[in-house]
Amino acid sequence: MNNLEICPVCCEGHLHSYHFSREISYKNVTCMADVFESSKCDTCGSCVATHAQTKYNKLLNINFQRAVDGLLSTHEVHRIRKKLKLSQRVASSIIGGGGNAFSKYESGVIKQSVAVDNMLRVLDLKPALIEVLVQADEQRRALASVQTEIYIPPAIPQKPADSPVFSFFKEVVMAAQTAFLPTIVEQTINSPLGLNAINFEFCGSRTE
Ligand SMILES: [Zn+2]
Repeated sequence: MNNLEICPVCCEGHLHSYHFSREISYKNVTCMADVFESSKCDTCGSCVATHAQTKYNKLLNINFQRAVDGLLSTHEVHRIRKKLKLSQRVASSIIGGGGNAFSKYESGVIKQSVAVDNMLRVLDLKPALIEVLVQADEQRRALASVQTEIYIPPAIPQKPADSPVFSFFKEVVMAAQTAFLPTIVEQTINSPLGLNAINFEFCGSRTE
């Protein structure tokens, strides 16, 4: 803190900073904090908080509330964003909040959501994962920036490929395909009825 600011009350003395205690409460938590700052004039004795001290005291209160809510502090959000080498605007776009949300998170104007907070904790541990979010953001922007037509075909029913029963019948059907079921097998493998259809057709054909 600058101790040489002129006192705004007497306009003669200089302000000297000091710490003082204040009880702060939020939700179910009360805390006596001896970390708040103000200034005292060495001439008239007036106690005056400078603009920087007022801002600092407000931030202490905000970060106390964040701690009670289980959220990262303003400087932790700032530290992680810097670690990820992102501007505030880019971080707001790809991590969450939109606009210039990170400027507000870091200055304490608003709190980040739990989702953004959780993402920041993950990215702090695994910074390389930011590439996943960068690519997702690029894809969103690419789709939003041009007129795009996409064709989505009808869903193909999942064949139980991992089922040993299915594999067995498929192997048998394939082996028998050239012998006596060339047409039916090809149709039933692609049938939406799947395994049951293949089984039915194969057994039915054998009994014929
Ligand atoms: Zn003074």
